[in-house]
Amino acid sequence: MYQKFDVIIIGAGGAGLMAAMQLPNASVAVLTKVYPTRSHTGAAQGGVAAALGNQEEDHWKWHMYDTVKGGDYLVDQPAAEILARDAIDAVYELEHRGLPFNRTPDGRIDQRRFGGHTRNFGEGPVRRSCYAADRTGHMILQTMYQSSIKNQVRFFNEFLVLDLIFNEGRACGVVAMEIRSGEIHTFHAKAVMFATGGYGRAWRVTSNAFACMGDGMSIAYRRGIPLQDMEMYQFHPTGIYKVGVLLSEAARGEGGKLLNDKGEYFMERYMPTLKDLAPRDIVSRCIVQEVNEGRGIDGKDYVYLDVRHLGAKAIAEKLPDITDFARNYLGVEPITEPVPIQPTAHYAMGGIPTDLDGRVVIDPQWTPMPGFYAAGEVACVSVHGANRLGTNSLVDLIVFGRRAGKDMARFIAENDHAPLPENPEAYSRDMLDRLLDKGKSSGGESAARIRSTLQNEMNDKVFVEREEKGMLSALDTLDGLQDAYKKIQLQDKGKRFNTELVEAIELGFLLDCAEATIHGAIARKESRGAHYRLDYTKRDDTNWLKHTLAYKGEKAHDVRLDYKDVVLVDDPIFKPKERKY
Ligand SMILES: Cc1cc2nc3c(=O)[nH]c(=O)nc-3n(C[C@H](O)[C@H](O)[C@H](O)COP(=O)(O)OP(=O)(O)OC[C@H]3O[C@@H](n4cnc5c(N)ncnc54)[C@H](O)[C@@H]3O)c2cc1C
Repeated sequence: MYQKFDVIIIGAGGAGLMAAMQLPNASVAVLTKVYPTRSHTGAAQGGVAAALGNQEEDHWKWHMYDTVKGGDYLVDQPAAEILARDAIDAVYELEHRGLPFNRTPDGRIDQRRFGGHTRNFGEGPVRRSCYAADRTGHMILQTMYQSSIKNQVRFFNEFLVLDLIFNEGRACGVVAMEIRSGEIHTFHAKAVMFATGGYGRAWRVTSNAFACMGDGMSIAYRRGIPLQDMEMYQFHPTGIYKVGVLLSEAARGEGGKLLNDKGEYFMERYMPTLKDLAPRDIVSRCIVQEVNEGRGIDGKDYVYLDVRHLGAKAIAEKLPDITDFARNYLGVEPITEPVPIQPTAHYAMGGIPTDLDGRVVIDPQWTPMPGFYAAGEVACVSVHGANRLGTNSLVDLIVFGRRAGKDMARFIAENDHAPLPENPEAYSRDMLDRLLDKGKSSGGESAARIRSTLQNEMNDKVFVEREEKGMLSALDTLDGLQDAYKKIQLQDKGKRFNTELVEAIELGFLLDCAEATIHGAIARKESRGAHYRLDYTKRDDTNWLKHTLAYKGEKAHDVRLDYKDVVLVDDPIFKPKERKY
């Protein structure tokens, strides 16, 4: 099947929908492998940061400062400036589109505290995160989906994109499989945007939805686009023990505290000023240290999140969903009992490199790939550097999703469709034939085995703390898994709703993301933000104040690394310095 549009957006989460709404005069298609409101954005709980100053004094420059410092200075500072400045207007845009935020008594958008967000350049916590109870992402997604329907955006639900097509040096479309029928469709466009989200499923314990398999990153990587800073992967401190489901930082924003086996609120010892509201990389590391030193609960690898002192009323009003998660998944009653938690794989700071308008750039010289855009978690405009602050992702989606949408409007007005290359579906058809084993003897490998081996290796060896030996061994395992992947044998050879096939395709994407992550992490011989190395414990600005670019090599298992300077602004307050809280 062949379809033609001005713009094709892959992904119906916050980033994709925000972009779609900027193109009222264009023909726009949004392709999504899950129903739009099931995108992972809908799981975001805590809030969206913007220096509105509704509860206390606040300024965009304080927000920018916290973002740069929180990211351990790997942040591109002009991008952080745009994030902090535009956040204010973007949040009001959501309000005007009908988002039901919690309110202050005088009717303004209510704001709560979140980790690493401070007043006056680090003096103490500030109320900056706008929220709708603990289901902010759900509200954002519902609001935007309604707006997109009103704007007549065409949705292709349950279409799995397999490949990105280029011709004459430009992006010109994608190839997708309709999951319901197994049919292959070619979508031809002037501009293509990836808003496909993250890849948390590469770890065993993760907060991410089943669909977060790194599709967009891998598809671009296979087509020669680099992946930036993939070693910077965030572990959120408070995932439900063993399950990984997130208990939002909002719990600590409202006053919840972490407790060890000795009954000590230990963050007070590590971080006297921000305590439990220190940035996530630091809090996760403190938990791991408590566990390593024998103060995990009953000597095991978890600690408690304690919200008992907040009282039943505040818990019911401000944290209804996450307290229900504790009841349902653990049988624990948070009003009377502390909740077992451990760090959980949560967020990709890295991804497809873009400039400030969401245009994908392909080398250290910032050369754009015309017609190809990315925004949201799949992208790396580098506002989060080495560690993202809580509630800064939803802002990233709406600020840079909007900028990408506006730049696509300009681009499609200035350009015609590039012609499709000959036989655009060849690569995708070949991929499906291989997996469905047409005409070949079967290899007997199972996707489930490969996936769980990968997740265990990543959780054990590419985690909050890492070192060369463990990572080399993880890489060795990964190489073996990639070879095994070529021998996958599916039980279901059918076309309709072949979910086994879908999962096998997604697993291939996930392996690519893990590959770029491990290679980048082994090479970066320093500790910075979420990348904490036991064998190089210090940050090294002389050698490593730079972004990693990982390119897929010609041969199997080959990865080429290159580096790109971090962009700083000329203001002494943002100069890289030791990160103290
Ligand atoms: C549990 C949880 C809580 C969070 N809470 C917060 C919070 O409070 N505040 C905050 O700022 N951030 C939070 N985050 C982070 C934030 O929610 C995510 O980073 C963000 O929502 C990602 O949005 P996105 O638009 O980039 O992608 P997503 O919302 O993940 O959407 C991805 C889209 O791409 C589509 N897709 C992917 N691959 C394909 C393919 N091959 N073919 C077709 N379609 C495809 C999917 O169908 C989906 O529509 C949270 C994250 C999690 C997991």
